[in-house]
Amino acid sequence: MTTMATNDTTTSSTITEGPRGWAPSVPTPEDPLKWGDNFPTAAARTLRNTQMRRNLGHATRTIRDKRAMRVAEMPDWEQLRLAGSAIKNRAMSHLPELLEQMEANVIARGGHVHWASTGEEACRIAHSIAALKGATEVVKVKSMVSQEIGLNEYFAERGINAWETDLAEMIVQLSEDMPSHIVVPAIHRNRSEVRAIFKARMEDAPEDLSDEPPVLTAAARAHLRKKFLSAKVAISGANMMIAESGTLVVVESEGNGRMCLTVPETLVSIVGIEKIVPTYQDFEVIAQLLPRSATGERMNPYTSLWTGVTPGDGPQEFHLILLDNGRSKVLADPIGRQALHCIRCGSCMNVCPVYEHVGGHAYQSVYPGPIGAILTPQLRGAFDHHDPAASLPFASSLCNACFDACPMRINIPDVLVELRHRAVEAQRGGIPSFWDVAMKAASVPMSKGSRMGMAGKVLPLARVMAGPGQRFVNLPWPATAWSATRDVPAPPGQTFRAWMAERDKTGSAPSGRGASGRGGACGCCGQGGK
Ligand code: SF4
Repeated sequence: MTTMATNDTTTSSTITEGPRGWAPSVPTPEDPLKWGDNFPTAAARTLRNTQMRRNLGHATRTIRDKRAMRVAEMPDWEQLRLAGSAIKNRAMSHLPELLEQMEANVIARGGHVHWASTGEEACRIAHSIAALKGATEVVKVKSMVSQEIGLNEYFAERGINAWETDLAEMIVQLSEDMPSHIVVPAIHRNRSEVRAIFKARMEDAPEDLSDEPPVLTAAARAHLRKKFLSAKVAISGANMMIAESGTLVVVESEGNGRMCLTVPETLVSIVGIEKIVPTYQDFEVIAQLLPRSATGERMNPYTSLWTGVTPGDGPQEFHLILLDNGRSKVLADPIGRQALHCIRCGSCMNVCPVYEHVGGHAYQSVYPGPIGAILTPQLRGAFDHHDPAASLPFASSLCNACFDACPMRINIPDVLVELRHRAVEAQRGGIPSFWDVAMKAASVPMSKGSRMGMAGKVLPLARVMAGPGQRFVNLPWPATAWSATRDVPAPPGQTFRAWMAERDKTGSAPSGRGASGRGGACGCCGQGGK
């Protein structure tokens, strides 16, 4: 799997470092879980970046095609999805017992377990372990959760450099950017940009570095090898924890993760409490779902499993930090809790039309895309419309593609609708919004048949006003808020009541309701509707 877009339409000479890092970039925010503007404002900005959209469109299309091919090979894919969903349901229902079982097994095999209820607490524990070892540098892998809690910045403020070793994460770190995808964090970059970033920011980048992917990869490998051999402490996340044995799992494509997990003397794994599964057999199911969904591979090249410590083999000191950071609040929510079933495959992003157009940075969270739209507001408890995270559930067309693609059958559209409902309810009680006024006005004709009949009388006039194109492109204020981002089709030439009356009179259904013969077309978009 490539970690960068390769549709290189920009030459390296045009790539420049701007005042806020490498365009298009997002400077490291105070709170990586949600920063900056609400979604509509941020999306309006990222939509203007045509290069990013080209990079993203190419990369998501490639991954989508590969995934579809690999899923088609599996006759029992739907059964596997059901099994995955059942495993997570069971795990979440028994979370406290499973975590205690995990703790007991890690300790029994020579490891140490720490519990962190907040991100700050997890950073403090990880830092105290690294500081105790006298580390000035640590290597990191599979550390989305460490992004969530701002671990790199916490370490940097206290004199320890934390180096990302996943190639894509390294690109993001060198360019002082933020990830824009959970599996392919540098998906918004093309290879020319990567070359420019390496040349400027990687101290040992070769003079003659080209933008060929194998050359870039070789340069990164040489750079990272030195880090692996010198670092005494490694920080990792984990894709899964297996409670019955106290085992942790990391799946990856490059082997850098395995270097991290085996070479340094001390390993600190920070893992969200939801990553637990009860048994090895459960791991087997998810191990079939994950690589196909994430990168369209039958199996990822490297799968590392480790349990406590083994004398003379691998890290001789192992610490597991179990992170809550809002997860138990999510677990308590009967609808939203399914967000905790996520195995971070990124499949929902690759099929999402909204994500494909606006890119990951528009969500302004370390968790972008459809899963981010339901996870971020819940982790932050953001349902008040003043919180920019509360705008994220509206970042969807509810087309259902994310549900179809999700290997864990997380019903993202259902949760989106529920979170929208909560955001709207939280707004009640204050000054009515434009939407409230519009709905109130619509309720006047819609609540009485005779009024509705009278309203239908204006349809011919509206059709005349729509002109020959039969579309309203710009409605007058205040309806501009609606038409600014969409065309409104002209109403049909005949109301439903008139159509029914004609049918009753003639004894058969009239051929079409629209004067243009657009029979049965959808009233809001003019499409299909048969
Ligand atoms: S929500 Fe589903 S599709 Fe999206 S990242 Fe999580 S597991 Fe993958």
